[in-house]
Amino acid sequence: MSEHNYIFAKVIGEGSFSTVYLAKDVNSNKQYAIKVCEKAFIFREKKQEYIKREKTALLRLSNTTGIVKLVCTFQSSKYLFFVLSFAKNGEILHYIDLMNIDCSRFYAAELLKAIEGMHKKNIIHRDLKPQNLFLDSNMHLLIGDLGSSKILQDEDIHHNHLSHSINEDDDGQNNNPKEKRKERRESFVGTALYVSPEILKGKKSLFSTDLFSYACILYEFICKKPTFGSNGENEYMVFQKIQNMDYHFPDNMNHQAKDLIAKLLIVDPEKRLGATDGKDQLYKSIRNHEFFESIDFDNIFSQTSPLLL
Ligand code: ATP
Repeated sequence: MSEHNYIFAKVIGEGSFSTVYLAKDVNSNKQYAIKVCEKAFIFREKKQEYIKREKTALLRLSNTTGIVKLVCTFQSSKYLFFVLSFAKNGEILHYIDLMNIDCSRFYAAELLKAIEGMHKKNIIHRDLKPQNLFLDSNMHLLIGDLGSSKILQDEDIHHNHLSHSINEDDDGQNNNPKEKRKERRESFVGTALYVSPEILKGKKSLFSTDLFSYACILYEFICKKPTFGSNGENEYMVFQKIQNMDYHFPDNMNHQAKDLIAKLLIVDPEKRLGATDGKDQLYKSIRNHEFFESIDFDNIFSQTSPLLL
């Protein structure tokens, strides 16, 4: 496989280390999103781990519903190419204003199911935010951008409970704990509005780290503004608000949603709803919450998106 197997049509996005193109497979005529990274730039910016992690995570998740698929990778002398399933309808961020409560519930259910699939494969995303959630041609949700993810090693796979501590030594070359903490804090690019208190404090991430971001996203689906920092606060102020759990629900907010979010936005990651669900029960306690009473989780990805009704 090489770049000659594809016709590159146009740029559809730019990341910090990559340019993403819409491309067509010359044989099948199928459309793909091809992420192109310049090798020299990756080396200069020391982002080899980031790129490697995204590839490893996407390969491990290749059969997981609700995750962008990595179809194949190849390279030329100058570039690395990641051929990804094309999320035709782009980022979910652009649809939030159109989402009523039922639609928010639908996408919250799809997101939960995709997170379940990811956690069952022992991957913590660590950077869930609306900018990393895409919509495919049928308006179903896809999680993307797994470059910040934590990929647990075989010895962790036998852990039944999600709150068990996790081997942190698989995400870089640096084994000095102090420097690793600093690295972890500084590894953010973009917005910190969805980051959990444990990550802000440089502590290790758990599966329930993603549940914190999940609650922030659900809040935003419903309230149309970020949970922390909706008034143009700077990053420091947002960090403070997250650590102090300083957020408010609008007066007219759906009560069940309020209750679910409040049970997830907890400083102690082990006390978040779902944090102690066993691997074979993921995320039963969240699925069973009354907010999701009307949701058929098993068939959610084969239902018609409310945005198309
Ligand atoms: P950063 O690397 O700084 O975190 P990013 O995650 O946005 O930024 P990329 O993953 O390179 O960087 O993606 C750049 C943009 O390309 C995205 O914002 C998105 O709009 C678009 N994009 C990425 N993957 C796909 C895809 N599979 N389908 C459709 N569009 C995509």
